[in-house]
Amino acid sequence: MYDFLIIGAGLFGATFARLATDAGKKCLVIDKREHIAGNCFSRDIKGVDVHVYGPHIFHCNDDRIWSFVNRFATFNNFRNSPIAIHQGKAYSLPFNMYTFNQMWGVTKPEEALEKIESQRLVLDREPANLEEQALSLVGYDIYNTLIKDYTKKQWKKNPKELPASIIKRLPVRLTWDNNYFNDKYQGIPEKGYTAMFEEMLKGIEIRLNVDFFKNKEELTTMAERVVFTGKIDEYFDYQYGELEYRTLEFQSEIYDVENVQGNAVVNYSDADVPWTRIIEHKHFQPGNKAKKSYVTKEIPAEWKKDSTPYYPIGDEKNTDLFRKYKHLAESHDDVIFGGRLAEYKYYDMHQIIGSAMSIFNKKGI
Ligand code: FAD
Repeated sequence: MYDFLIIGAGLFGATFARLATDAGKKCLVIDKREHIAGNCFSRDIKGVDVHVYGPHIFHCNDDRIWSFVNRFATFNNFRNSPIAIHQGKAYSLPFNMYTFNQMWGVTKPEEALEKIESQRLVLDREPANLEEQALSLVGYDIYNTLIKDYTKKQWKKNPKELPASIIKRLPVRLTWDNNYFNDKYQGIPEKGYTAMFEEMLKGIEIRLNVDFFKNKEELTTMAERVVFTGKIDEYFDYQYGELEYRTLEFQSEIYDVENVQGNAVVNYSDADVPWTRIIEHKHFQPGNKAKKSYVTKEIPAEWKKDSTPYYPIGDEKNTDLFRKYKHLAESHDDVIFGGRLAEYKYYDMHQIIGSAMSIFNKKGI
């Protein structure tokens, strides 16, 4: 008999399993995939640590979460400084003095501000859609060059049809600073995410290639309590309908050269380029001397039931549907629902760890 059956060996499941095991509980972790680490899974291909489900950069400000992950991995000093290509010209991200210099040739913060102010959309009401929101925050040049077509590709919708709430704010930095995240702690596990998860799950029983729903009766009798980190609508047999996600297609290639694009993340904001970004994985490992390079194009794809769920969609339809499932979940005291699929919420990795810690403290013992 186990204290906890944990469904999902992703970051929520692994954090919960570690905390429970450290507190003397016996856990069984299962995953329907053939590997641990959920969407953080990475593997070595020709000397490069490849982020299989999209690039993952760890960042946080919380000392407790940073010391937790440092129990299991040494982090490198990678800093994310993406660039965006538009009509053959490169722009720095996030929007900062380098971007404004590339866009307008300005070199002083007040000149950049003046440019933005002179072309911001001024409304006497709240912005009605994403386009109005972006225009009122950063003006026409940045919107037309770096946001409009990128967003159209990402969401497969015209920004005029998307809610303003998708972009709450667009950070404009009036400093020469390309470091994407502001956080105190940043980096990537030196030996890769999968090695970090192996350490997190050390001494804990794991069964891979096991789908909870195909073995539900047997599995639920094996533990006092269940921690479920899969899709909440699937748990309730889609009785109210299916939640939708934004999904991605990855096209990867190995190149026989050491350096293909000179940066880990390069966005493409032209409408006629189907991918939103190209990832060159070796640049996540500063100093990687591999002779080859592994490169992945990220292409937004239409959501279908069996697609890999990546990003929850925060529109009214899906939010209302999720509320119904959440209500059902609240009446299932014996099951702990946690993580991005069970809570139908986009979480960064540090937020998932924080959430698992707080749920464990409330319900784990
Ligand atoms: P998951 O990692 O999805 O784990 C859930 C696990 O449950 C999966 O392994 C799944 O196979 C398993 N499962 C589901 N159903 C069943 C079932 N029926 N039976 C058995 N097992 C089941 N965060 C950052 O901090 N920095 C980043 O740079 C970053 N980049 C990202 C890029 C992309 C493209 C995406 C999509 C996310 C990114 N994230 C990033 C977020 C990060 O991936 C998540 O915070 C984290 O992976 C969520 O962990 P989880 O355990 O909730 O979910």
